Amino acid sequence: MAAILGGGLGGLSTGYYLLKNNLKSNNNLKLFLLEATNYCGGWIKSIRTKDYVFEQGPRTIRPKGVTGLNTLNMIEDLGLSEHLAPIKSDHPAAKNRMIYVNKNLHILPSSLMSVFQKSQPFSKPLIYALFNDIKSPHKELRDDSIYNFVERRFGKEIADYAISPMICGICAGDAKEISVKFLMKTLFEWEQNHGGVVKGLMKSMFNSKTDDTMELSSLAKRAKEEKWNVYTIRGGLEIFPESIHDYLIENNVDVNLNTKIEEIEFKDSSTVELKKSTGESLKANHVYASIPAYALATLVKRQHPQLAQNLSDIPFVTVGIVNLYFDSSKDLIEPAFGFLVPPIENSPILGVVFDSCCIPDQNGTVLTVMLGGRWFNEKFGENVTEDQLYDIAMNEIVRILNIKEKPAACNVNILKQCIPQYVIGHYERVEKIRRYIQENNLPISLVGCSYDGVGINDVIYSAKTQVEDHA
Ligand SMILES: Cc1cc2nc3c(=O)[nH]c(=O)nc-3n(C[C@H](O)[C@H](O)[C@H](O)COP(=O)(O)OP(=O)(O)OC[C@H]3O[C@@H](n4cnc5c(N)ncnc54)[C@H](O)[C@@H]3O)c2cc1C
Repeated sequence: MAAILGGGLGGLSTGYYLLKNNLKSNNNLKLFLLEATNYCGGWIKSIRTKDYVFEQGPRTIRPKGVTGLNTLNMIEDLGLSEHLAPIKSDHPAAKNRMIYVNKNLHILPSSLMSVFQKSQPFSKPLIYALFNDIKSPHKELRDDSIYNFVERRFGKEIADYAISPMICGICAGDAKEISVKFLMKTLFEWEQNHGGVVKGLMKSMFNSKTDDTMELSSLAKRAKEEKWNVYTIRGGLEIFPESIHDYLIENNVDVNLNTKIEEIEFKDSSTVELKKSTGESLKANHVYASIPAYALATLVKRQHPQLAQNLSDIPFVTVGIVNLYFDSSKDLIEPAFGFLVPPIENSPILGVVFDSCCIPDQNGTVLTVMLGGRWFNEKFGENVTEDQLYDIAMNEIVRILNIKEKPAACNVNILKQCIPQYVIGHYERVEKIRRYIQENNLPISLVGCSYDGVGINDVIYSAKTQVEDHA
């Protein structure tokens, strides 16, 4: 018997892959999923009306790379292919990604041609960044912040105007703290092994080997052929976890909602007891923990304080989300994915997504303002209210986008400790945590966004690899 702790995307995907494994190996492993709230899907939550969709958490998924293609395989298997709304590479939401600098919106260069042209706010064409890399000396390091790495190799402007806002957009974090391995592991290895990124790229072109060993579904092949940039799900991303949940129920997984686990007691290498807040408990041979690392830390602390310490050292940030719907028939925004604000601008917002440009079937203009992240407490304090966040967001919408209309509908949420921060040393810490588990023969596997990547694709892929590793 196996227990899955947490019913977010990580826990649901673990259930999906355990069922697939059961089928493959003709096993009949009984599965339990334990979720503290009355909902499966974790941060993925959509509000759907006839006029608009508000996404309170994630909204777009990337189709590229092994992890992206793996998600598409899963989506096809769940029968969701027809629900996908792809954004192809020639769509304005793919081409027009903006940053707000010096009181202006600037479109970031996205084509090969634009790399040779000077475009604001950069003072030189981006091609100069490559010359910078070629002439910059090599610095030997085990890890570094992504900001330091990019500043050293490509110059300060790229670090400030391209990488820092990108890190805000991906994990609401500070590029000066986030590990270079989070997004640029290969480039960092090229610097460390070959003395620079361009030098590493040249060498890799001679030794290039393809890792295209994964079997692709027809959906994954279509996404590759049609050059999808990102995709969303028609009617809201929530449909995705709902479908996995239904699949688990149809295949007799015992899904327990409103079941908060308060302690995990390891009995021996194949027995673990999960103690519920009601005082009851459940025994399993193995537990797949998909809850955030800080939450898991409190559950294992009594028996394993050292493990708990390492888990709680993975920091998380809080994000404010303000969804706005304007029912005006006028075009209130230029077609684009949205804009991000580099931290050096010291704005109260991280950025704005133009949902009506990325998500289909919206009857008007839909925007989502993201606030806080790594700077939530210093900018707003711990006691900020949803009304205050709404006012701050609206002020910025008026100031930056010059929208004078009042929204016809809105939704404000403060997502407490919602995104883990892969700070310098993260990957070594995760290795240490998994080594401790192995050396102590603890029947537990770690999945979810705390360890192997913060995005939807990473979480699903991590569930797959953890299930395969334990099979
Ligand atoms: C605002 C925001 C925007 C995002 N945008 C994108 C995007 O556009 N694209 C993308 O790819 N990714 C995005 N992400 C990331 C993506 O949402 C996450 O990777 C993913 O949802 C994490 O899933 P998870 O299962 O690891 O964690 P969670 O969603 O946190 O699920 C954990 C579950 O465990 C439960 N739980 C916690 N403690 C206990 C306990 N003691 N007992 C039982 N249950 C417990 C919780 O209730 C929860 O349901 C975004 C995230 C956020 C917050």
